[in-house]
Amino acid sequence: MPLRRHYDDDYWDRATIQTASGANLVAFIRPRFKTSGLSGDEWRVSAIVEVRRHPKKIEQVLMRSFHRMNKLFEYAPYFVYASVPELLAAPSATLTVERKGHVLMTEVRPTFGDALIGLGWHIVTANEGRDGVEWHHLTDEQERKHCQQVGCARAPVIAFRLKKLQVTPSDHIMIEPEYDFTGRFAWYCADHSERGDAGLEDCDSNLETVSLNEEVPS
Ligand SMILES: [Zn+2]
Repeated sequence: MPLRRHYDDDYWDRATIQTASGANLVAFIRPRFKTSGLSGDEWRVSAIVEVRRHPKKIEQVLMRSFHRMNKLFEYAPYFVYASVPELLAAPSATLTVERKGHVLMTEVRPTFGDALIGLGWHIVTANEGRDGVEWHHLTDEQERKHCQQVGCARAPVIAFRLKKLQVTPSDHIMIEPEYDFTGRFAWYCADHSERGDAGLEDCDSNLETVSLNEEVPS
């Protein structure tokens, strides 16, 4: 049952930077169901960044949301620099990146600023294979155990076959996949099984329920 990853899914859905002195950053995805009588309903996501001077302090020194995780990686460093520049020099910063609760990579960077400003670069290069950093991609079996709503890791209760796939997220052309091995399945927990009617690909009318253990026809 090859997975069709959602267009909002940047693969990594959580990143943390923890310094030895306590200052820390957490970036995570928060899904929300958008409803509208005019434009329709659909699941959307926000990527939230929170910075604290100490993990035990509840109050944040910075909180901001972005459209998706990769946009957060691109823009959040500026907002941290603009609001709490004194944190950038904090030494010994452990960067940890996860997908659905599985650690993809972890690495100690010299300073909070190094880990933060290089966030996207450190992750992409580790994913491509950087000396000294181990990268753990999820197996198909691990993906099957988690809801495919971006930012949700709960156990799935329903699986769908996507009838047609959108050629690109920005245009309206829908096609039947040419090959059986093309990812055209998705699975969700009870909270995310209703997908709404606003999307083209991720839309209730484009989904056909299949068994959670469905195998690809050979
Ligand atoms: Zn879910």
